[in-house]
Amino acid sequence: MFSTQHPEKVPFAKFHLEVIRQLLERYSSTEAKPLHFDQGNARLTERHFPELVPRKEGKKSATRRCKVCSQTKAGIKKRKESSYMCRECDVGLCVVPCFRIYHQVADF
Ligand SMILES: [Zn+2]
Ligand SMILES: [Zn+2]
Repeated sequence: MFSTQHPEKVPFAKFHLEVIRQLLERYSSTEAKPLHFDQGNARLTERHFPELVPRKEGKKSATRRCKVCSQTKAGIKKRKESSYMCRECDVGLCVVPCFRIYHQVADF
């Protein structure tokens, strides 16, 4: 059964606005949660994507040393050349897993 108490007293437009208002309230209350980002670490907050290291003239392939592999404190440092890099950060990175680590872990 479908009934409202006084349907004639609630014009559709007003009802519609009320629904929108409630939706906006619900939406803004979930969006209001502050996100705690380290503002000084752009690489962790911005979206970066792996790109091929640009090839230099006369070279068959271009690689850069992976920054995570060579500077990690979590594991054993190793020299690792990768043909991928992050252009925004201007560092060489293995696509997996170093690209993700570099952009998600502040102290890798
Ligand atoms: Zn690496
Ligand atoms: Zn980056």
